[in-house]
Amino acid sequence: MPVFFRPDWTRREFLSAAARLAAAGAGAAAGLSALTAACAGPERREAAYYDRLPGKKIQCHVCPLDCILEDGQTCFCRTRTNEGGRLYNRAFDRPCLLSVDPIEKTPFAHVLPGTQLLSVAAGGCNLRCLYCQNWEQSQAKPDEVRVLDVSREEVIAGTQEKKCVGLCYTYTEPVAYLDYMRAIAEEARKRGLKNFVATAAFVKEQPIRDLAREVDGFCVSIKGWRDEVYEKVCGIKRAPVLDALRVIKEEKRWLELVYVVIPTYNDDPKEVDGMAKWVRENLGADTPLHFARFFPEYKMTDLPRTPVPALDACVSAARDAGLRYVYVTNVAPHEANHTVCADCGETVIRRLGFKVLENRAKGGKCPKCSHALPGIWTA
Ligand code: SF4
Ligand code: SF4
Repeated sequence: MPVFFRPDWTRREFLSAAARLAAAGAGAAAGLSALTAACAGPERREAAYYDRLPGKKIQCHVCPLDCILEDGQTCFCRTRTNEGGRLYNRAFDRPCLLSVDPIEKTPFAHVLPGTQLLSVAAGGCNLRCLYCQNWEQSQAKPDEVRVLDVSREEVIAGTQEKKCVGLCYTYTEPVAYLDYMRAIAEEARKRGLKNFVATAAFVKEQPIRDLAREVDGFCVSIKGWRDEVYEKVCGIKRAPVLDALRVIKEEKRWLELVYVVIPTYNDDPKEVDGMAKWVRENLGADTPLHFARFFPEYKMTDLPRTPVPALDACVSAARDAGLRYVYVTNVAPHEANHTVCADCGETVIRRLGFKVLENRAKGGKCPKCSHALPGIWTA
């Protein structure tokens, strides 16, 4: 769980800490955290993608739940409230988390290796994953969590000040704070910054299509390959996620996938084989896939961490199914931390977990055979 601010600090204390940290040459994350302060609560803005119904009811069409809300009701994702027949998103302009992170943490392996992104999050989520590592923020309303007194302009200025290549909307579920994300992304893009989204992609076609046109890349978490895992562990249907992945592909946005390997739930190599074949056929064999170790957290504390041999079996199954770039993301060292040219087998980028040790991909090409590696290689 990232901690970026002390909740008992006043704005003056934050700003004074900022000056001290800057003078001491403190780390990027600590420096940015000093922009933050306790404040009354998040802002609100009228939400997009909803219909007004008779009797001051509304229906939201952002995600496949299509919530119908009575006047005064707050939705399943906890961010949107019907106020007098209009829908307002309360996760706006006051993030609950900000952090400068290596791009590899998203995880992205084929996007500007060795650079940093400013991660942004607001409270709320339209899933109920039993192992959520950020449940204190994701399973709460935006105004139930401590928020940071940082405007959109300050978020963007902080991104530039810390020499991040762009922003990543992550940690909770960006679909829940879609309106806020789009407002920052639009402004960030005008200033030459990139936008990336880490999401479970439980979202309807039009919102994801519109969003895809504004961002540079997505990292989508696949929760398993059986409907049962999606329903029992995360509380949603699987099919709409696959539809959203196809839309991202149609919109030609960069896409990487991450799969948390949960012991006994989704670690069967046969299940991974089915998922990898679907990815190959629908998204392409060059779509990077990251296997991530599960850590017991929230309501799934009775399971162990994923054993490394189980991760190895998943990597083998995905490679055997024809995927050309398969990674292990949060175990280091591991041979699958590195990027290996799919054409000649040369190790092009060596990593230790999220740290890039050596990057020989000049302009995104293999230094040995000049094969063009898929991805985003220029800022
Ligand atoms: S985004 Fe929220 S309000 Fe809209 S349909 Fe999904 S859960 Fe309901
Ligand atoms: S989608 Fe992400 S943020 Fe939401 S509950 Fe699942 S793991 Fe947590």
